[in-house]
Amino acid sequence: MPAPAIFWFRRDLRLHDNPALIAAADGRPIVPLFVLDDEAPGMRPLGGASRWWLHHSLAELAAGLERRGLELVLRRGPAARILAEIAAETGADSIFAGSRPEPDAIARDRALIPALRQHGVTLTLVADSLLFSPRRLMTGAGEPFKVFTPFWRAALALGDPPASSGVPGLMPGPACRGDDLDDWRLLPSTPDWAGGLRAAWQPGETAARDRLARFVDRGLGDYGRLRDLPAVDGTSRLSPHLAWGEISPRQVWHAVRGREDGTGAAKFLSEVGWREFSYHLLLASPGLAEANWRADFDRFPWVEDKATFRAWRRGETGYPMVDAGMRELRSTGYMHNRVRMIAGSFLVKHLLTDWRRGEAWFWDNLVDADHANNAASWQWVAGSGADAAPYFRIFNPVLQGERYDPDGTYVRRWLPELGGLPATAIHKPWTLAKPPRDYPAPIVDHRLARDRALAAFQSLKTK
Ligand SMILES: Cc1cc2nc3c(=O)[nH]c(=O)nc-3n(C[C@H](O)[C@H](O)[C@H](O)COP(=O)(O)OP(=O)(O)OC[C@H]3O[C@@H](n4cnc5c(N)ncnc54)[C@H](O)[C@@H]3O)c2cc1C
Repeated sequence: MPAPAIFWFRRDLRLHDNPALIAAADGRPIVPLFVLDDEAPGMRPLGGASRWWLHHSLAELAAGLERRGLELVLRRGPAARILAEIAAETGADSIFAGSRPEPDAIARDRALIPALRQHGVTLTLVADSLLFSPRRLMTGAGEPFKVFTPFWRAALALGDPPASSGVPGLMPGPACRGDDLDDWRLLPSTPDWAGGLRAAWQPGETAARDRLARFVDRGLGDYGRLRDLPAVDGTSRLSPHLAWGEISPRQVWHAVRGREDGTGAAKFLSEVGWREFSYHLLLASPGLAEANWRADFDRFPWVEDKATFRAWRRGETGYPMVDAGMRELRSTGYMHNRVRMIAGSFLVKHLLTDWRRGEAWFWDNLVDADHANNAASWQWVAGSGADAAPYFRIFNPVLQGERYDPDGTYVRRWLPELGGLPATAIHKPWTLAKPPRDYPAPIVDHRLARDRALAAFQSLKTK
């Protein structure tokens, strides 16, 4: 019998279409392992919503493994130490894992390979979280792409990614002591703020596969139009499942490619393409979550105002579309993409708050918090990023609301205090003769805020 292999689950919490798992299971008994290395230097600690998601995802993964006769081993601590310990305890001489296309994780993995070799253990990393290897995609000059359209064109020219695969035959390895998931205290307790998350989400691979199947069955023909309407269930809501690798982008790709939904399907895949592009940008600029991609933004005159930042976080800005989004986020750990753009733009442009503060808030509150997507999207919103929305294009939250939530269904859902307002006033309640008493007046005037933002942007050019 060959020596067992450790399969180290990371951001690939699935059994289907997991190439690293297939490589590990090739005739060897498997010791499945998840390491909570939440104090690793340089690695960003998980936000609260992600910790909630991780707890339930691990529980579901453990159940899936148990049905196949394997026990998921949970251990907390520095990965290098834990991996060496488990190898010694089980007699494993090899470790397999999905590679993580993030600079911090790459640096850690690079250091792990020789460290483990000293213990006679090999670490094999298999790419599995993106459709296309970000390093294969370069401009003609051998540089990373800075603009999405040519990036995606080059990606599509590579042809379909390999077909997705099923669950390999898994042979259980030696038993090994592990932690109790509850002892990790990933779930909030005092207070338990996760009621809205429980109501909105079912973490885990089974739910991810069901969600993909339902989304595709519904037909993607109208995706291009519906995806911008936050009141409508028009997008896949696969983002947290993709963020934790409960489903692979290849599975998504092939489920969609098999259907003839024309431009809707192509538009949907291009959104998955933005995820690829975000990782491409992160690898090109490892400090994407901390440093402006465009260096001239280092001189931007951000304003630090505790009161307005608090009002934004709590959904009390007086602009219904912004507030509805921020309350959706607080309640469910999710916000519709259109509203993320509106709320993000409001923070950065109307309030002149540094985008990094918004990024950090989203990181803590989103169930789909994703290092690359969150950082790249915030820089896109702020105008400081690659291929970003131009700074001078300032969303008017009233017009955005009237356009994308014309009858106010979305706003009413998250701001019940505005429930009785007519559609004509739902996005500007302050214009009513008697504005609702229990809803704040706007914390900034749109026109003044717009002029202030444009002046701040102009100052970059004159400094
Ligand atoms: C300020 C801001 C912060 C964001 N932070 C995150 C984040 O932390 N994690 C995250 O996954 N997405 C983030 N996004 C992108 C986008 O809002 C979400 O991916 C999308 O709303 C998820 O919903 P969905 O799965 O129904 O999307 P769908 O429309 O069904 O799209 C399918 C998949 O494509 C990817 N995708 C879609 N839009 C984008 C995009 N603009 N950029 C990158 N990938 C995209 C996601 O993986 C998504 O699940 C952010 C956007 C903004 C404006």
